[in-house]
Amino acid sequence: MNQVIRIAVQKSGRLSEDSLKLIKECGIKFYNGTGKLKSTSTNFPIEFLYLRDDDIPGYVADGVADLGIVGQNELVEKDKEVQVIKPLGFSKCRLSLAIPKGESYEGLSYFQGKRIATSYPKILGDFLRDAGIQAEIHEISGSVEIAPSIGLAAGICDIVSSGSTLMMNGLKEVAEIFKSEAVLIAHPDLSAEKQETVEKLLFRMNAVQTGKNNKYVLLNAPNENLEKITSLLPGMRSPTILPLAEAGWSSVHSVINEETFWDKIEDLRAAGAEGILVVPIEKMIV
Ligand code: ATP
Ligand code: MG
Repeated sequence: MNQVIRIAVQKSGRLSEDSLKLIKECGIKFYNGTGKLKSTSTNFPIEFLYLRDDDIPGYVADGVADLGIVGQNELVEKDKEVQVIKPLGFSKCRLSLAIPKGESYEGLSYFQGKRIATSYPKILGDFLRDAGIQAEIHEISGSVEIAPSIGLAAGICDIVSSGSTLMMNGLKEVAEIFKSEAVLIAHPDLSAEKQETVEKLLFRMNAVQTGKNNKYVLLNAPNENLEKITSLLPGMRSPTILPLAEAGWSSVHSVINEETFWDKIEDLRAAGAEGILVVPIEKMIV
């Protein structure tokens, strides 16, 4: 039995659902009753701490938790000693500067000598310093978007995903200063025993992620075009080719990466492929 590791996840918010979904997809079972602050898996040596996301980098840095799932925005803002293990591809958002819609904007110098409200004083401060802009940073912990309309600040720096919150508050986005997604973080020096459990978890997470990034493809190919078609489908090692009952045709099975998917499908059709079936992959171990 491996040594139990502790992972800190957000208790409730924009990271929670996807964080727990990823862990469940790794075949890890646990009870996640509402209001619980801690739980233990029944089939993997892992314990869960349910926390506010603000506290996750600190808990991992202090070693109270061995691992954590947190947004890069919160991680960079808190500036704690942790190791980033991998980006997780969810909770994607950006930190942007925004000003009242009616104002004209000709560049960052707009903010020179003005006051900006934000919950991200460190990220904003670093950005302004690099840009050579002197502005006053006014830190507030929530409802940042109303600051300009109540005369608290000339602009704001906040999380944007679709931009609809900004619009509702009469603001427009003028500059993106930071891009974020959820990342898996670890305490910088885990014991060898804990490291072993972490490796097991990572192996599973990678299998799930690689599965999501690829599709299983089955298609029919006229034998005279087989060479062309198989050259388009490298697959995991090489494609599988099976004869069809109808003479002169073969069934080709392979794996296609999500990123190049539609281009590949077009090339395959152009090369004479027919009856193309695309199937999601639950897990993929390369
Ligand atoms: P907590 O109560 O845990 O402190 P919170 O209010 O600080 O929660 P949430 O709004 O739940 O935070 O957002 C958590 C993280 O999700 C953010 O730090 C950011 O990384 C990401 N995030 C925020 N807004 C969005 C969004 N609209 N779309 C996608 N991801 C987002
Ligand atoms: Mg928070």
